[in-house]
Amino acid sequence: MADKIAAQWARIRGRLRAEYGEAAYRSWLKPMTLVGVKSRRVRISVPTQFMRDWIESQYIERLVNLWAIEGKTIDGVDLVVSGNDMDGQTTSQNTQPAARRVADSPDALGAPLDPRFTFENFIVGKPNELAFAAARRVAETEVAPYNPLFLYGGVGLGKTHLMHAIALHLRQTRPQKHVVYLSAEKFMYQFIRALRFRDTVAFKEQFRSVDILMIDDVQFIAGKDSTQEEFFHTFNALVDQNRQVVISADKSPNDLEGMEERMKSRLGWGLVADIHPTTYELRYGILQSKADDLDFEIPEKILEFLAHKIISNVRELEGALNRIVAYAHLIGRPITLETTHDVLHDILRANDRKVTIEEIQKRVAEHFNVRLSEMYSARRARAVARPRQIAMYLSKQLTARSLPEIGRKFGGRDHTTVMHAVRRVEELKLTDRGFGEDVELLRRMLET
Ligand code: ADP
Ligand code: MG
Repeated sequence: MADKIAAQWARIRGRLRAEYGEAAYRSWLKPMTLVGVKSRRVRISVPTQFMRDWIESQYIERLVNLWAIEGKTIDGVDLVVSGNDMDGQTTSQNTQPAARRVADSPDALGAPLDPRFTFENFIVGKPNELAFAAARRVAETEVAPYNPLFLYGGVGLGKTHLMHAIALHLRQTRPQKHVVYLSAEKFMYQFIRALRFRDTVAFKEQFRSVDILMIDDVQFIAGKDSTQEEFFHTFNALVDQNRQVVISADKSPNDLEGMEERMKSRLGWGLVADIHPTTYELRYGILQSKADDLDFEIPEKILEFLAHKIISNVRELEGALNRIVAYAHLIGRPITLETTHDVLHDILRANDRKVTIEEIQKRVAEHFNVRLSEMYSARRARAVARPRQIAMYLSKQLTARSLPEIGRKFGGRDHTTVMHAVRRVEELKLTDRGFGEDVELLRRMLET
């Protein structure tokens, strides 16, 4: 009997995964644990109240359906919060509908802040200096200097860190301000909950009494029409009253797909600051600062190696550093390049795979409308030589390949030729704006 139910549950989880996709499955569905079946009802436990409410609002119907398909003897599904499932009484309490209030206190509106995400701990470099300066301004200025401040950039480049830094700074300097930080996902969750309990008036009022509202990862509500509508009204109400709004997203306002035109345009009204992919210098600076914090001696060579190789994002860079330090602690020996290779082989491989020289050549050739073969050919006419130089430059920037390796991939050219190409492109970027934008565009396309 128990085996049969376990097998049914495994099939149901498989279906859920296929139907809702990997991301939703991992965040919401995978953490569910089958407790058992009692009086024709399946009992499933989840780690938190929050997840219970979310699963109940989003997935419960499908879950009940799937159980009905699997087992004729099942009448319903009860979600319980694990840890409270010790005896029947608490369980039955937990299977009651979630609390009727949208939020208990103003703070319950927002999400907790990570105390490490301060301005002091943020390393500033070319790729993030604008976003950093803008965030500081917002944190230090009484009247909203630009509204909204819209921060965007790829994953793991410091958007959340900067938003938390604003909130932490305000908490210290102007504690009377009501600052709310939350993810767009949580915004949506609260809104849906308010709808369910017909409590939208209180929901609106709560958000509209906020002095500074920060919504992280707003791309999440693209395509979710009713949430977007509500967000739009909240947003407008705050901006109209000169309350500061800070938004982050993975793309610029214009590039947010599934976002209404009026919303896109409104999001771009204030200051739009993008965080560019990291440079070697920034990565090195971040590593140095984190290594200092860890209070652990790491050879310069290793830091350089990591800064060269782990180019995807800062989160991964931190992860790599932590792993090396943990390893060194464990085996009690100093870290060498060799152990670094061993300990990080998976991360290193993933970063290598990021962009290949072949992809760069193909994209650049397409962009300038020249044949791919011109990337390896000996022709020196400007119309083909310039794109080739750009491709070499991008290969140096975006891959971990050395100059000789790059030269070989471009028809067996010498490493000095590659070096010359890199310098030439850097010069032209400074003197010719259109050229610079072209190269930047290509770089972005290749990175995403
Ligand atoms: P995002 O929200 O853009 O995906 P996060 O803000 O979560 O990225 O940053 C990922 C990790 O990298 C965090 O631990 C953050 O502290 C760190 N990080 C990112 N940029 C920097 C930086 N410039 N200096 C120091 N740490 C950084
Ligand atoms: Mg983030």
